Parts: sequence; structure tokens; C-alpha cells
Amino acid sequence: MSGLGALFGNTDDEQELRCSRAGCSNPAAATVNWRNPKIHSEDRVKVWLACNDHIDYLRDYVATRNFPVTVADIGNDVTRVQDGILDLRSSSISFGFLE
Ligand SMILES: [Zn+2]
Repeated sequence: MSGLGALFGNTDDEQELRCSRAGCSNPAAATVNWRNPKIHSEDRVKVWLACNDHIDYLRDYVATRNFPVTVADIGNDVTRVQDGILDLRSSSISFGFLE
């Protein structure tokens, strides 16, 4: 069910995926996919990489401009950003601190 293994298991690819937030060099944990409806056609997808600390920041940055935004797992390519705010991450609820 997971396409992540192919990405993270490939040691030939030395290029690490880093967070797109300025000044942040944490490894990316998700992609923030968005478009500006005023200038981008519906099949255009802009992709930012986000670490766990900045997923919410980057998503909200786009969302507050009323742009459609979709958060997804890395490796789960988003080919179309639907209207509204979408979170497709399979692991989006597993970061709590359950004691
Ligand atoms: Zn970050």
C-alpha cells in the first residue's frame, strides 16, 4: 500500500529532501501542493516541501490567501489541487504524544 519505500530505500539518490521554509534545513516530511487560481490553470501544481514543524505554517501561508492547497505524503504526487484545504497524509494523526 505504500510507495514511500521506493523513495527512502533508494541509496543511490543522495539528494535529501529539505523543508522549503526559509532558513529551515530539516528533512521534509510532507508536500504542500497549491496553486494560485488567478494565474495558474487548474492542472498546475506548485509544490513546497515541509518538515513536521512547518507543514501547518506553509499550508496556512497559502490558505490565508484563499489558494487551494493539498498536503500529501512525500512520494504521493498530487496532480491536481482541488479547491479548499485538503490533507491526504496517511500519518497526519500519528504525531501526538500519547502517554
Ligand atoms: Zn521546516
